[in-house]
Amino acid sequence: MNRDNKTREVTDLKLEVIPRQEHGISRKGISENALKVLYRLNKAGFEAYLVGGGVRDLMLNTQPKDFDIATNATPEEVRKLFRNCRLVGRRFRLAHILFGRDVIEVATFRGHHGSEKGEKGEKSEKGEKNASQSNDGMLLRDNVYGSIDEDAERRDFTVNALYYNIDDFSIRDYAGGVEDLNNRVIRLIGDPETRYREDPVRMLRAVRFAAKLDMTVNEATAAPIPALAHLLRDIPAARLFEESLKLLQSGYGSQTYKLLRDFNLFTPLFPILSEHFTEDRNSKCEQMIELVLKSTDERVASEQRINPAFMFAAMLWYPLETRAEEIAFESGLSYYDAFMVAANDILDEQVKSIAIPRRFTAMIRDIWQLQLRLSRRSGTRAYKLLEQNKFRAAFDFLEMRGEIEGGQLQELAQWWDDFQKADRDGRNDMVQVLNKASSAKKVRRRRKAKPRRRKPTQES
Ligand code: ATP
Ligand code: MG
Repeated sequence: MNRDNKTREVTDLKLEVIPRQEHGISRKGISENALKVLYRLNKAGFEAYLVGGGVRDLMLNTQPKDFDIATNATPEEVRKLFRNCRLVGRRFRLAHILFGRDVIEVATFRGHHGSEKGEKGEKSEKGEKNASQSNDGMLLRDNVYGSIDEDAERRDFTVNALYYNIDDFSIRDYAGGVEDLNNRVIRLIGDPETRYREDPVRMLRAVRFAAKLDMTVNEATAAPIPALAHLLRDIPAARLFEESLKLLQSGYGSQTYKLLRDFNLFTPLFPILSEHFTEDRNSKCEQMIELVLKSTDERVASEQRINPAFMFAAMLWYPLETRAEEIAFESGLSYYDAFMVAANDILDEQVKSIAIPRRFTAMIRDIWQLQLRLSRRSGTRAYKLLEQNKFRAAFDFLEMRGEIEGGQLQELAQWWDDFQKADRDGRNDMVQVLNKASSAKKVRRRRKAKPRRRKPTQES
């Protein structure tokens, strides 16, 4: 194997088996449920391996997010072994073994497409081929089953093609994954361009793992990405929604965003935002993206709850403001009405690339609409706002806007901060001050608005 890290390309796989005593993975690091599944498959006479992020993260001494299992049992055979099993996925058929909220994913070894030798998989009901490709090389179905060697070739990155064998506790390293883990390199298996064309989401995964694992994307793996980034536009928006959460809400959002920008991958996900991008990456819109991702990362690190609606609301805010102003100017609608029209426009456009589910778009609208209401606090308004379901999110967001824009917005955020912390009398006093100010303003306005009477002329 070529040891030169920069140029090594993984075309032919060469298996290296690392025996139990020569690697650091122990069963203690593996969840009880994953072990149960591995053992049962093994006892029934099937091959069973822990694979993917589970092995990779354990090798890096970090806690895996989930445990994925690969086996030579077909999904139907897996289902017969487990009562708590559900078969999912069309493009990529999988068995999910459910243990309450914990799901263990079991995938049957994938084989080569079009090769008869790998095709022990069942034909689908309609008799279609189990693997098919679109004109531009994208895999539409990937349900041809094969051996573990073939499976390894179909994995995305070398560090994801490590298999922990439950039969003898050895690790099978097919593509030099251990070496790449040690050198902290993300490297695609096979010819990068072909692999990206088969599944453009692999470009996002390269960036995601680089950010999350603090690794660098190998040169050959990185090179084709900017020119192929547009292929993401063909990916179903629902899949990109799932992917966008993994990219931006898993605790490494800031770094991931930076890499997505570097690789031209951000625009196909958020075309509306890219209209607001500047050379120095410092427009208000870009500042907001960085701010909300930083705060999301901090919340993940301290195990606080995070809500995707908040992130999307923040990211899309400045495009919304711009659009609302344009609509108000062109149509003569009141700013409030124009704002609501713009909110619909922006969300309609965004869901074309990232299918944000309805329950979140409703929340995004609430957070936006509350921004308009937060400045109106006199009388009983402030108290009513405080009781709003989305008040806390709206306030947190107002603070971010204040941080970016300063001035009155920052004062408003400070007022709300004080108001929340004040006791009953304190709150009353704060509102009284506003009431006085607003009635004084009204009087001034009324005086100003009165038309000056002209002196009656002689003739009338
Ligand atoms: P995570 O920590 O996010 O779970 P992971 O590597 O386990 O990372 P999964 O999405 O859970 O990622 O997928 C499990 C494994 O399946 C991967 O490690 C990889 O081997 C394989 N895989 C997943 N998606 C793809 C893909 N698009 N192309 C090729 N192989 C893939
Ligand atoms: Mg995983």
